[in-house]
Amino acid sequence: METIYDLIIIGGGPAGMTAGIYTARQKLKTLLITKDFGGQMAKKAVSIENYPGFEEISGLELIQLFEKHLRSHEIDIEINAVKNVKKSGDVFLLMTADRKEFKSKAVIVASGADPRPLEVEGEKEFIGKGVSYCVSCDGPLFADKTVVVIGGGNAGFEAALSLSNYAKKVYILESGEKIRAEKSIQDQVKKIAKITVIIGSVIQKIQGKTFVESIIYQEKTSKKLVTLEVQGIFVEIGSQPATSFVKDLVDFNEKDEIVVDPKTSQTRTRGLFSAGDVDDVPYKQVVIACGEGAKAAISASIYLQKNDRAQH
Ligand SMILES: Cc1cc2nc3c(=O)[nH]c(=O)nc-3n(C[C@H](O)[C@H](O)[C@H](O)COP(=O)(O)OP(=O)(O)OC[C@H]3O[C@@H](n4cnc5c(N)ncnc54)[C@H](O)[C@@H]3O)c2cc1C
Repeated sequence: METIYDLIIIGGGPAGMTAGIYTARQKLKTLLITKDFGGQMAKKAVSIENYPGFEEISGLELIQLFEKHLRSHEIDIEINAVKNVKKSGDVFLLMTADRKEFKSKAVIVASGADPRPLEVEGEKEFIGKGVSYCVSCDGPLFADKTVVVIGGGNAGFEAALSLSNYAKKVYILESGEKIRAEKSIQDQVKKIAKITVIIGSVIQKIQGKTFVESIIYQEKTSKKLVTLEVQGIFVEIGSQPATSFVKDLVDFNEKDEIVVDPKTSQTRTRGLFSAGDVDDVPYKQVVIACGEGAKAAISASIYLQKNDRAQH
């Protein structure tokens, strides 16, 4: 017989995993579909110092504790990417990248955010051949090489600090005239001689034969074009909500975040909830994503009870 889940959660980051712990404990038949476990915390070399109970813990360690907790409950898990979500009557139909189909009575979208691309010549061509969006995944591949981090915010500065453990030389390229990273991280970077910060400069082009060999950037004030020889480019210019699969069922704000009712995490489609970095609730933090995941799970559970009562 065809399975119709009570709830499908999309995303295995802090928001999705917290939602899963809540709904599994409430004995809702739950499926969590995720491309990977951990989301942004696992991919970036993040040290977390503001999650209660841990004075300092690496993002990867914290996420492994979340995953262990989630798996201690009865919940189905599918490692896959959701490509499309539709609603027919009261039932949601989800299609994955490899065309598997799943059905549920409610859905929580907790798909977080993907790295924002540079959109310059050569970027797509050299992905995996020198262009990377994940320092903790690819940083060690650049031992004794020269690399550039694009973006002078906290993420860019943290990436440069991490890369300085492997690379021979690390540049940070920031398009603005001012560094946006917090002072404490700037101070750490200043102490490392092999990191050089270049401000007011915009990347124009990535070039090479098989692998990246250099970038061309433009100095904003002088308009001069400069060639920088690098073998690695790490893009750290922020993120964009991962929402393409659900675009027909929700409204978006100006940042392409899913608009939710902040009291219930409900989107404009009944039974479709959203939590974490993907929605329009401000302040993107682990503790907030967890809180939102819990809120969406409780709201979904109340929605399912009301729907059940209405049908009997
Ligand atoms: C460099 C950096 C440093 C940070 N430092 C801190 C910090 O010190 N303290 C703090 O509190 N927060 C920090 N954050 C923010 C924190 O990581 C996020 O707020 C949090 O991860 C959001 O959780 P989330 O579950 O909403 O989304 P994410 O962590 O983005 O997880 C989303 C999940 O959804 C999955 N997914 C996406 N699309 C699909 C799809 N189509 N199908 C299936 N699965 C999908 C992804 O694979 C991922 O598992 C930092 C973030 C960055 C980038």
